[in-house]
Amino acid sequence: MIKNNRKIKMRRRRSVFLCIIVILILCTICIFVRNYSGAAFTKVSSKKVVTHKKVAAQKKKKLDLEDKDKGIEVFKMKSDPGEVMPWVDQKESTKKIAYLTFDDGPSINTTKILKILDDNKIKATFFLIGKNAERYPELVKSELADNNSVANHTYSHILNYREGPEVFLEDVKKCDSVLKNIAGDKYIQNFMRFPGGAFESQKRLEPFRQAVTNAGYRFLNWNDMNGDADHPNVPVDTLINNVKKYTQGKKIVVILMHDAAAKSTTVQALPTIIDYLKSQGFVFGKLE
Ligand SMILES: [Zn+2]
Repeated sequence: MIKNNRKIKMRRRRSVFLCIIVILILCTICIFVRNYSGAAFTKVSSKKVVTHKKVAAQKKKKLDLEDKDKGIEVFKMKSDPGEVMPWVDQKESTKKIAYLTFDDGPSINTTKILKILDDNKIKATFFLIGKNAERYPELVKSELADNNSVANHTYSHILNYREGPEVFLEDVKKCDSVLKNIAGDKYIQNFMRFPGGAFESQKRLEPFRQAVTNAGYRFLNWNDMNGDADHPNVPVDTLINNVKKYTQGKKIVVILMHDAAAKSTTVQALPTIIDYLKSQGFVFGKLE
Protein backbone atom coordinates (compact mmCIF):
# COMPACT_ATOMS: atom_id res chain seq x y z
CA MET A 1 0.00 0.00 0.00
CA ILE A 2 2.79 2.34 1.05
CA LYS A 3 4.72 1.30 -2.04
CA ASN A 4 1.69 2.15 -4.25
CA ASN A 5 1.29 5.58 -2.61
CA ARG A 6 4.95 6.35 -3.29
CA LYS A 7 4.54 5.35 -6.93
CA ILE A 8 1.51 7.65 -7.29
CA LYS A 9 3.44 10.51 -5.66
CA MET A 10 6.38 9.94 -7.93
CA ARG A 11 4.13 9.96 -11.00
CA ARG A 12 2.49 13.20 -9.86
CA ARG A 13 5.86 14.83 -9.30
CA ARG A 14 6.99 13.70 -12.71
CA SER A 15 3.80 15.08 -14.32
CA VAL A 16 4.21 18.40 -12.51
CA PHE A 17 7.86 18.51 -13.55
CA LEU A 18 6.95 17.76 -17.19
CA CYS A 19 4.22 20.42 -17.10
CA ILE A 20 6.69 23.01 -15.84
CA ILE A 21 9.18 22.04 -18.57
CA VAL A 22 6.47 22.30 -21.27
CA ILE A 23 5.31 25.68 -19.91
CA LEU A 24 8.90 26.93 -19.83
CA ILE A 25 9.49 25.80 -23.43
CA LEU A 26 6.23 27.46 -24.55
CA CYS A 27 7.19 30.68 -22.77
CA THR A 28 10.63 30.69 -24.36
CA ILE A 29 9.09 30.17 -27.80
CA CYS A 30 6.59 32.97 -27.14
CA ILE A 31 9.29 35.39 -26.01
CA PHE A 32 11.50 34.49 -28.95
CA VAL A 33 8.71 34.93 -31.52
CA ARG A 34 7.66 38.23 -29.97
CA ASN A 35 11.16 39.63 -29.86
CA TYR A 36 12.02 38.53 -33.34
CA SER A 37 8.87 39.92 -34.96
CA GLY A 38 9.24 43.07 -32.84
CA ALA A 39 12.74 43.61 -34.11
CA ALA A 40 11.62 43.00 -37.65
CA PHE A 41 8.74 45.43 -37.16
CA THR A 42 11.06 48.07 -35.72
CA LYS A 43 13.38 47.54 -38.65
CA VAL A 44 10.53 47.93 -41.19
CA SER A 45 9.01 50.91 -39.44
CA SER A 46 12.33 52.72 -39.07
CA LYS A 47 12.94 52.08 -42.74
CA LYS A 48 9.47 53.50 -43.42
CA VAL A 49 10.27 56.61 -41.36
CA VAL A 50 13.51 57.17 -43.27
CA THR A 51 11.70 56.77 -46.61
CA HIS A 52 8.92 59.11 -45.45
CA LYS A 53 11.47 61.71 -44.39
CA LYS A 54 13.26 61.39 -47.72
CA VAL A 55 10.02 61.76 -49.71
CA ALA A 56 8.97 64.73 -47.54
CA ALA A 57 12.37 66.41 -48.08
CA GLN A 58 12.14 65.82 -51.83
CA LYS A 59 8.60 67.22 -51.89
CA LYS A 60 9.71 70.27 -49.93
CA LYS A 61 12.64 70.86 -52.26
CA LYS A 62 10.29 70.59 -55.25
CA LEU A 63 7.78 72.94 -53.62
CA ASP A 64 10.54 75.43 -52.76
CA LEU A 65 11.68 75.44 -56.37
CA GLU A 66 8.09 75.70 -57.61
CA ASP A 67 7.56 78.53 -55.17
CA LYS A 68 10.64 80.29 -56.46
CA ASP A 69 9.30 79.87 -59.99
CA LYS A 70 5.78 80.93 -59.03
CA GLY A 71 4.24 83.03 -61.78
CA ILE A 72 7.28 82.45 -64.00
CA GLU A 73 6.80 80.96 -67.45
CA VAL A 74 9.41 78.27 -67.93
CA PHE A 75 10.19 77.67 -71.59
CA LYS A 76 11.25 74.05 -71.94
CA MET A 77 13.55 74.01 -74.91
CA LYS A 78 13.77 71.25 -77.49
CA SER A 79 16.70 68.96 -76.84
CA ASP A 80 17.88 68.77 -80.45
CA PRO A 81 20.69 71.11 -81.43
CA GLY A 82 20.25 74.28 -83.47
CA GLU A 83 18.60 77.66 -83.05
CA VAL A 84 15.93 78.09 -80.37
CA MET A 85 13.24 80.63 -81.21
CA PRO A 86 10.62 81.02 -78.47
CA TRP A 87 8.81 83.71 -80.52
CA VAL A 88 8.22 81.08 -83.22
CA ASP A 89 7.58 78.08 -80.95
CA GLN A 90 5.17 80.03 -78.76
CA LYS A 91 3.40 82.07 -81.43
CA GLU A 92 0.09 80.41 -80.52
CA SER A 93 0.51 81.35 -76.84
CA THR A 94 -2.44 83.15 -75.26
CA LYS A 95 -0.02 84.88 -72.89
CA LYS A 96 2.36 87.71 -73.57
CA ILE A 97 5.75 86.53 -72.31
CA ALA A 98 8.97 88.49 -71.83
CA TYR A 99 12.27 86.64 -71.48
CA LEU A 100 14.89 88.94 -70.01
CA THR A 101 18.40 87.91 -71.02
CA PHE A 102 21.66 89.38 -69.73
CA ASP A 103 24.90 88.75 -71.62
CA ASP A 104 28.58 89.13 -70.71
CA GLY A 105 28.42 88.74 -66.91
CA PRO A 106 29.04 88.22 -64.14
CA SER A 107 30.14 91.75 -63.34
CA ILE A 108 30.11 94.37 -60.60
CA ASN A 109 26.46 94.96 -61.58
CA THR A 110 25.23 91.37 -61.16
CA THR A 111 24.15 91.74 -57.54
CA LYS A 112 22.13 94.88 -58.38
CA ILE A 113 20.40 93.10 -61.27
CA LEU A 114 19.60 90.10 -59.06
CA LYS A 115 18.13 92.42 -56.41
CA ILE A 116 15.81 94.09 -58.96
CA LEU A 117 14.71 90.69 -60.32
CA ASP A 118 14.09 89.48 -56.79
CA ASP A 119 12.12 92.61 -55.82
CA ASN A 120 9.86 91.92 -58.80
CA LYS A 121 9.79 88.15 -58.16
CA ILE A 122 10.91 87.46 -61.71
CA LYS A 123 13.72 85.41 -63.26
CA ALA A 124 16.09 85.93 -66.14
CA THR A 125 18.53 84.00 -68.30
CA PHE A 126 22.22 84.91 -67.96
CA PHE A 127 24.67 84.15 -70.76
CA LEU A 128 28.07 84.18 -69.09
CA ILE A 129 31.54 84.79 -70.46
CA GLY A 130 33.81 82.02 -69.17
CA LYS A 131 36.58 84.47 -68.22
CA ASN A 132 34.18 86.52 -66.10
CA ALA A 133 32.68 83.42 -64.49
CA GLU A 134 36.20 82.42 -63.46
CA ARG A 135 36.67 85.85 -61.90
CA TYR A 136 33.32 85.88 -60.07
CA PRO A 137 32.35 82.27 -59.30
CA GLU A 138 30.27 83.33 -56.30
CA LEU A 139 28.09 85.53 -58.52
CA VAL A 140 27.45 82.59 -60.83
CA LYS A 141 26.27 80.66 -57.78
CA SER A 142 24.08 83.57 -56.66
CA GLU A 143 22.38 83.66 -60.06
CA LEU A 144 21.63 79.96 -59.78
CA ALA A 145 20.62 80.12 -56.13
CA ASP A 146 17.91 82.61 -57.14
CA ASN A 147 16.70 80.04 -59.67
CA ASN A 148 17.71 82.03 -62.73
CA SER A 149 18.94 80.26 -65.84
CA VAL A 150 22.64 80.33 -66.66
CA ALA A 151 24.21 79.43 -70.00
CA ASN A 152 27.34 79.68 -72.14
CA HIS A 153 28.46 82.87 -73.95
CA THR A 154 31.94 81.56 -74.92
CA TYR A 155 35.13 81.82 -72.87
CA SER A 156 36.82 84.84 -74.49
CA HIS A 157 33.92 86.59 -76.26
CA ILE A 158 35.72 87.16 -79.55
CA LEU A 159 33.42 89.27 -81.69
CA ASN A 160 35.22 89.36 -85.02
CA TYR A 161 34.88 85.65 -85.96
CA ARG A 162 38.18 85.83 -87.86
CA GLU A 163 39.38 82.48 -86.57
CA GLY A 164 37.74 79.40 -88.05
CA PRO A 165 34.68 77.61 -86.60
CA GLU A 166 36.93 74.98 -84.95
CA VAL A 167 38.76 77.61 -82.89
CA PHE A 168 35.43 79.21 -82.01
CA LEU A 169 34.01 75.88 -80.91
CA GLU A 170 37.02 75.30 -78.65
CA ASP A 171 36.25 78.63 -76.98
CA VAL A 172 32.62 77.58 -76.45
CA LYS A 173 33.75 74.30 -74.88
CA LYS A 174 36.25 76.11 -72.65
CA CYS A 175 33.41 78.20 -71.25
CA ASP A 176 31.50 74.99 -70.56
CA SER A 177 34.34 73.53 -68.54
CA VAL A 178 34.53 76.73 -66.46
CA LEU A 179 30.79 76.68 -65.79
CA LYS A 180 30.91 72.98 -65.00
CA ASN A 181 33.66 73.55 -62.44
CA ILE A 182 31.61 76.23 -60.70
CA ALA A 183 28.07 74.95 -61.07
CA GLY A 184 28.23 71.25 -61.94
CA ASP A 185 25.17 70.48 -64.05
CA LYS A 186 23.02 73.26 -62.57
CA TYR A 187 23.45 75.56 -65.56
CA ILE A 188 21.74 74.85 -68.91
CA GLN A 189 23.78 72.23 -70.71
CA ASN A 190 24.51 72.46 -74.43
CA PHE A 191 23.00 75.92 -74.73
CA MET A 192 24.80 79.08 -75.78
CA ARG A 193 24.52 82.53 -77.27
CA PHE A 194 26.99 83.82 -79.86
CA PRO A 195 28.92 87.00 -79.00
CA GLY A 196 27.03 89.64 -81.00
CA GLY A 197 24.41 87.03 -81.98
CA ALA A 198 24.38 84.82 -85.07
CA PHE A 199 21.24 85.37 -87.13
CA GLU A 200 20.34 83.40 -90.22
CA SER A 201 20.64 86.56 -92.30
CA GLN A 202 24.37 86.82 -91.39
CA LYS A 203 25.64 84.46 -94.08
CA ARG A 204 29.26 84.93 -92.92
CA LEU A 205 28.37 83.25 -89.63
CA GLU A 206 26.64 80.23 -91.16
CA PRO A 207 29.72 77.94 -90.75
CA PHE A 208 29.83 78.91 -87.07
CA ARG A 209 26.12 78.21 -86.56
CA GLN A 210 26.67 74.88 -88.30
CA ALA A 211 29.74 73.99 -86.20
CA VAL A 212 27.94 74.73 -82.93
CA THR A 213 24.88 72.78 -84.06
CA ASN A 214 27.00 69.80 -85.16
CA ALA A 215 28.63 69.81 -81.74
CA GLY A 216 25.19 69.35 -80.17
CA TYR A 217 24.54 72.90 -78.95
CA ARG A 218 21.31 74.86 -79.02
CA PHE A 219 21.64 78.62 -79.36
CA LEU A 220 19.47 81.69 -78.81
CA ASN A 221 19.40 85.09 -80.50
CA TRP A 222 16.83 87.77 -79.61
CA ASN A 223 13.89 89.70 -81.08
CA ASP A 224 13.96 92.67 -78.69
CA MET A 225 16.65 94.74 -76.95
CA ASN A 226 17.39 97.79 -74.86
CA GLY A 227 20.27 98.78 -77.15
CA ASP A 228 22.87 98.93 -74.38
CA ALA A 229 25.44 97.32 -76.71
CA ASP A 230 25.65 100.49 -78.82
CA HIS A 231 28.17 102.18 -76.53
CA PRO A 232 29.02 102.34 -72.81
CA ASN A 233 26.31 103.74 -70.56
CA VAL A 234 23.60 104.54 -73.10
CA PRO A 235 21.23 107.07 -71.43
CA VAL A 236 18.49 105.48 -69.33
CA ASP A 237 15.67 107.06 -71.39
CA THR A 238 17.13 105.71 -74.62
CA LEU A 239 17.27 102.18 -73.14
CA ILE A 240 13.64 102.38 -72.02
CA ASN A 241 12.48 103.80 -75.36
CA ASN A 242 14.33 101.08 -77.25
CA VAL A 243 12.45 98.37 -75.36
CA LYS A 244 9.15 100.16 -76.00
CA LYS A 245 9.98 100.41 -79.71
CA TYR A 246 11.09 96.78 -80.16
CA THR A 247 8.32 95.30 -78.02
CA GLN A 248 5.59 96.97 -80.08
CA GLY A 249 3.19 94.44 -81.60
CA LYS A 250 5.02 91.40 -80.19
CA LYS A 251 3.59 88.69 -77.96
CA ILE A 252 6.78 86.78 -77.14
CA VAL A 253 9.91 88.85 -76.59
CA VAL A 254 13.46 87.74 -75.86
CA ILE A 255 15.13 90.94 -74.71
CA LEU A 256 18.88 91.38 -75.06
CA MET A 257 20.55 93.34 -72.26
CA HIS A 258 24.02 93.30 -70.75
CA ASP A 259 25.48 92.64 -67.34
CA ALA A 260 28.80 94.48 -67.56
CA ALA A 261 30.74 97.15 -65.69
CA ALA A 262 30.19 99.75 -68.42
CA LYS A 263 26.42 99.15 -68.47
CA SER A 264 25.35 100.79 -65.23
CA THR A 265 22.50 102.59 -66.98
CA THR A 266 21.08 99.14 -67.84
CA VAL A 267 20.67 98.56 -64.11
CA GLN A 268 19.10 102.01 -63.66
CA ALA A 269 16.64 101.47 -66.53
CA LEU A 270 15.69 97.93 -65.52
CA PRO A 271 12.92 98.66 -62.96
CA THR A 272 11.14 100.98 -65.43
CA ILE A 273 11.51 98.44 -68.25
CA ILE A 274 9.99 95.73 -66.04
CA ASP A 275 7.12 98.06 -65.03
CA TYR A 276 6.52 98.92 -68.68
CA LEU A 277 6.35 95.25 -69.68
CA LYS A 278 3.95 94.52 -66.81
CA SER A 279 1.74 97.44 -67.87
CA GLN A 280 1.58 95.91 -71.35
CA GLY A 281 0.30 92.62 -69.90
CA PHE A 282 3.54 90.65 -70.10
CA VAL A 283 4.43 87.86 -67.70
CA PHE A 284 8.07 86.90 -67.33
CA GLY A 285 9.81 83.72 -68.36
CA LYS A 286 13.10 81.93 -68.29
CA LEU A 287 14.57 79.22 -70.47
CA GLU A 288 15.35 75.72 -69.35
ZN1 LIG B 1 28.19 89.35 -75.41
